[in-house]
Amino acid sequence: MEQVQETRSSISRRRRRMKARLVLLPAPGTGHMTPMVELAKYLVQHNFSITILTMGPAFPSSSYSSSIASYIESVVGLDITFIDLPHVDLPFDRTKSAMAHLSLFVEKHNPHIKNAITQLRSSSPSAPIHALVLDFFMTSMFDVAVELGIPGYIYFASGAALLALMLYLPTLDAKITGHYKDLEGEVEIPGLPPLPPLVLPGPMLVRDDGYQSFLSHALRFPEAKGIIVNTFGELESAVLETIDEGRCLPDHPTPPIYPVGPLIGVKEKPEMSSNACIKWLNKQPLASVVFLCFGSMGAFPAAQVKEIALGLEQSGCRFLWALRFRPGEGFSMPSDANLDEILPEGFLDRTVERGLVWPSWAPQTEILAHPAVGGFVSHCGWNSFLESLWCGVPVLAWPLYAEQRLNAFLLVKELGLAVELRLDYKGEGLVKGEEVERGVRCLMGECEEGKKVRKRAKEFSEIGKGAVEEGGSSFATFKRLAHQFAPAIIVNTFAELESAVLETIDEGRCLPDHPTPPIYPVGPLIGIKENPEMSSNACIKWLNKQPLASVVFLCFGSMGAFPAAQVKEIVLGLEQSGCRFLWALRFRSGEGFSMPSDAILDEILPEGFLDRTMERGLVWPSWAPQTEILAHPAVGGFVSHCGWNSFLESLWCGVPVLAWPLYAEQRLNAFLLVKELGLAVELRLDYKGEGLVKGEEVERGVRCLMGECEEGKKVRKRAKEFSEIGKGAVEEGGSSFATFKRLAHQFAQGT
Ligand code: UDP
Repeated sequence: MEQVQETRSSISRRRRRMKARLVLLPAPGTGHMTPMVELAKYLVQHNFSITILTMGPAFPSSSYSSSIASYIESVVGLDITFIDLPHVDLPFDRTKSAMAHLSLFVEKHNPHIKNAITQLRSSSPSAPIHALVLDFFMTSMFDVAVELGIPGYIYFASGAALLALMLYLPTLDAKITGHYKDLEGEVEIPGLPPLPPLVLPGPMLVRDDGYQSFLSHALRFPEAKGIIVNTFGELESAVLETIDEGRCLPDHPTPPIYPVGPLIGVKEKPEMSSNACIKWLNKQPLASVVFLCFGSMGAFPAAQVKEIALGLEQSGCRFLWALRFRPGEGFSMPSDANLDEILPEGFLDRTVERGLVWPSWAPQTEILAHPAVGGFVSHCGWNSFLESLWCGVPVLAWPLYAEQRLNAFLLVKELGLAVELRLDYKGEGLVKGEEVERGVRCLMGECEEGKKVRKRAKEFSEIGKGAVEEGGSSFATFKRLAHQFAPAIIVNTFAELESAVLETIDEGRCLPDHPTPPIYPVGPLIGIKENPEMSSNACIKWLNKQPLASVVFLCFGSMGAFPAAQVKEIVLGLEQSGCRFLWALRFRSGEGFSMPSDAILDEILPEGFLDRTMERGLVWPSWAPQTEILAHPAVGGFVSHCGWNSFLESLWCGVPVLAWPLYAEQRLNAFLLVKELGLAVELRLDYKGEGLVKGEEVERGVRCLMGECEEGKKVRKRAKEFSEIGKGAVEEGGSSFATFKRLAHQFAQGT
C-alpha cells in the first residue's frame, strides 16, 4: 500500500515537472499585481506551472504590502510560486516624474530577475521555461529574455484602446511636435474615435522624462512574441480588429494579440465576509447604495472632499465611500484618512442612517459584487471598470490619473457604460457639490442617460462573463495562447487526410496533463520530380517501354528486406499473377538487424525466374529512384511497407497501395490506410508468428491491387481522388498552404 502511495506521489511530482512553466513579472502596484495573478490563476487551470517574481513597492506606501499579502494568501494551494526579488533602493527623486521613477525602479531589478530565472532553470533543468510574461512597464526585460533565449510576452492589463495608442505612439511622436496638451483639434489614432488631446494618458500630455519613459516602452512593444490583453472581443471589437490589421503599427509586423479578459478576482457570496463594509451593506436594500472608490492611488485635496460630502448629502442616496487621503503636495501614495479632520462638521452624524465612510483600503471586488450596491463612482482604472462590468454595476466616471481619462471618454461616449461627470480637464477646478449630486442621482437612474447606462451594464455583465466561459471568445483566445506558449510541432500530413485525429489533438485530448503545442499540418511535403520519363536511370528506361498504368512496383523502404524463403514466395506470387512488375530487391545478409545491401540476384532468386519473366518484369537489386518511379505513368500499383514518406509519395502520384508493413509504425499506418482511409488494399499477414506470406496471397493481393477485385477498384479510385486533394492542400488557398503561412508568421515573431 505504502509503495502504491509512493508511486502515486512520484507520478504526480513528475507530472508537475512536466507541466509547461511560465514566469510572470508584474510591475509593482495593486493595479498591476492583481490582474497578473488573475492571469496566473487562469493559466494554472490550463495546466501551466507558474512562478511570479515580485518586487517591493516603487513608492513608499503603508497599505501596499498588506493588501498584496492578503491577495497572495487567496491563491495558496494553486500551482503558483511567488518569489520575492531582492530589495532595490531607489528613493523617489521629486524632480522626476512618477512614470520615469517607476520605469527606472523596474529596470534596476533586471539583474535580480536574470539571477532568479537562472536559478529556477538550474533547480529543475528538465522543465524548461516556455515564456516570460511581462507587465508593460517591464519592456527593458526583453534584453534579458533574448539573452536567456526565452520568448517574452507582454501582459497588457488595460484595454485595447490604450494598447492601440501605445502601438501607435512612435508614429504619433514623429508626426506631432510640441506638447500634446497644447494641440488644437483632435488626435487621430487608428481604431479609436477622434480624441480630444486632454483625454490622452497623463504621461503623454507634456514631453518630459515621464513621456520619454512611456515612449521607450511603446517602442519596444513590437519585440513581444505576443500581447495578452485583459479585454474581450465583444467589448472592443473595432479597435482589436484595427490592431490585428496592423494599422496601429504601420512600420512593423504587429505581434499576435490575445484578448483573454475579463480576468478579475470577484468572489462568490460576498455577503458572507466579516468585513465591516460588507456587514453594513448586508443591512441595506437591494441595489440602493452608491459606492465611491478611486483606485490604489486616488485621493482628493481637502476642498474637493468637502464638495463630495455636500453632493452626497444633497443627493439623499445611500452611499459607501472609500476615502483615503494624500498628505502634502506632489505625488505620494494615499494613506488612511482621519475623518474628523477632513469631513465637514456634522456630516457623519447627519448621514449616519444611510451612509458609511470607510477611511481605508476597501474590499472593492466584494463590495461591487454585493447585491445592495447599485452604482459606482469610479476613477475608471481598468481593473475597477472590469470589476464593475462583471458585477453589472453602472459607473459614474471620475477619471484622475494615468489612462483613466481615455477609459472614461470611451466608456461614456463609445460604450454607453458610464454616466458622464462634467469635469474641468484644463484647470484645477473643483467638481462642485451640485455636479456630484446631479451625477449620483443620474447614475442611480434619475435621468435618461443613467437609465440607459444601468441597462447596458447588466447586459455587458452577461456578455463579459460569457466571454471567459467555455465556448466564449476569450476562452477560445486563451486556448490559442496556451498552444502558443508550448513549442510547435510541424506534421507532414494534411487536414483533409486526418481531420478527426488532428481535431482531437487540437482539443488537447491526447495530452490531458499538459498544454498541447500548436500543431501545424503542412504536408504532403515530398520531393517528386516533374517529367520522370527523362531520367537516364535503367528502371525508368525500362518503364518507358511499358504500357500506361500496367506495372506493379515493389519497394520496402530504406530498411526493408526479406529472408530468402520469403523472397521465393514473392517470386511465385509475381510469376503467377501474370502482371508486369518492377521489384526493388535488396538483401539482409546474416541474422539480426543490419542495413540491407544490394542483392546478388542469381543467389537468391529461383533459377529461371528472370528468364521466364524477362518480357514483363525487372528486378532491381539496389536502391531505386522511388519518387521518379511512382511518378512514372507506366506504374499502376505499389506494394509498399507503408513507411509514411512512401505512402505520401504514392498518394501524391495517385498510385494505389498493397500494404505490406514490416517495422516501426508501419503496421499502424497500414491498418489506418486499409481500414480508415480506403487508400490501400489489405495483404493478409500473420502479425503473431513468423509465418511467410505465401505466393498465393501475394498473387491475390497484386491482382486485387491492379483492379481485379472490388476492394482494388475502390482503392484505385480513391487514390486518384486523394492525389488531387493532397496536391490542392499545398497549393495557394489550400489547407496546408494556409497553415504554413501561419507558421511562417509565427517564426517571424520568434525571438
Ligand atoms: N482596490 C481595492 N480597494 C480600494 C481601492 C482599490 O480593492 O480601496 C482595488 C480594485 O478592486 C482594483 C485595484 O485596486 O482591482 C485598482 O486597479 P485599477 O486598475 O482600477 O486602478 P489603479 O489603482 O491601477 O489606478
